[in-house]
Amino acid sequence: MYFHSKGEVVYKEAGVDIIKNICHRCHNRDRKLFYEFYSELDQHKIKYCLNCIGLGRVDSMTPLAGTETHRRKEKCDYVLNFELTDIQKEASKKVVSAVRERRHLLLHAVTGAGKTEIIFEGIKYAREHGLNVAVVSPRIDVVKEVHLRLGDAFRKSRIDLMFAGVKVKFEHHFTVCTVHQLYNFHDHFDCIIVDEYDAFPLADDKHLLGAIDKAKTADGNIIIMTATPTRKMVKHVGVGNIFQIARRYHGHDLTVPVIHYGNVNKEVQQKKLNGKLKRLLDGIMDANRRVLVFFPEIKMMYEAYPLILKHFEDAETVYSGDGERYSKVERMREGEIKILLTTTILERGVTFKDLDVIVVHTEYFPSDTLIQICGRAGRKPQDPTGNVHFITLYNTHHIQKTVRTIKAFNRGSAVI
Ligand SMILES: [Zn+2]
Repeated sequence: MYFHSKGEVVYKEAGVDIIKNICHRCHNRDRKLFYEFYSELDQHKIKYCLNCIGLGRVDSMTPLAGTETHRRKEKCDYVLNFELTDIQKEASKKVVSAVRERRHLLLHAVTGAGKTEIIFEGIKYAREHGLNVAVVSPRIDVVKEVHLRLGDAFRKSRIDLMFAGVKVKFEHHFTVCTVHQLYNFHDHFDCIIVDEYDAFPLADDKHLLGAIDKAKTADGNIIIMTATPTRKMVKHVGVGNIFQIARRYHGHDLTVPVIHYGNVNKEVQQKKLNGKLKRLLDGIMDANRRVLVFFPEIKMMYEAYPLILKHFEDAETVYSGDGERYSKVERMREGEIKILLTTTILERGVTFKDLDVIVVHTEYFPSDTLIQICGRAGRKPQDPTGNVHFITLYNTHHIQKTVRTIKAFNRGSAVI
């Protein structure tokens, strides 16, 4: 079922149970996540759910209604402009058999392993058998990119797209959306593919994990794609249902970061641009490449920006609350912006060509973030290497773990 206010089927007489304290849309039971007020107009108390308010209000006086869509098979095909590598083909077969046998599957794939292409055949199988499919991610950036890539491939299919503020809806047989939007579904998807499962904030959010379980049918399956699996994920899918793709799809190694020592922020406070950082940027500009420079804090990034602009005019900044975030990413893609200073929002799901990466004050970053950041470089077959530089005050356990993990991936021996 797909919940919406004009739905002809009443799922519950009231969306929020005022006595039992439960939201029937998102299954929130946390007392702190409800708001109660006295309505003069209706002459009684109304309680509504704060946990899923972003999708529109669900309260104790309005029925929760929805639509049951009928399963529909479609002739489904896709266009792929290159041939999958042997390991991708093997992974693709695993996805198809997981969908066919309704088994969960964890694809443990290094960033840039061509994960999206690996799911095409499984989606085709599902749609040709009338199964409802959702491809979801916790991150809007990833949802948009995946939607573009699926649209390019499945040219004749109607693909629904949903994230905060945007809805392109048909019948939800084939949907790309944020995990958050899954609150809108109950017992609906036969196959849910979760990309970047470990991305903030899903891994820690029991409500969002619950949303996946609630949106899938009783015998539906979940396919998790991740570069950094956790024990919790492994437990969820079962140890026998893991497939590892250690090599990137173009067969080249992941870039091992080069470590430099320096205190960029201290020099910024003295209104100086760190010499190491300047030399790295000079080299990248001379090679006619572009670069993402990651900062641990917005404040530090904004203080460094004017100093970088003094030497390099094609520089910009971006952060999560930046209204021009998407247009800046687009300008970077077009090559108008050559140096993009960023917080960790661009660590996943964004692909640029001829890209190098610099991380400033790397000592602040955890290793799973650093591994994702390293995966930003060298994602295009025509530019498979890319350079990654860590500038750090001192070496950390997380830096060491990052280097170890990347080397293990390159040997093809990554272990969970
Ligand atoms: Zn709710």
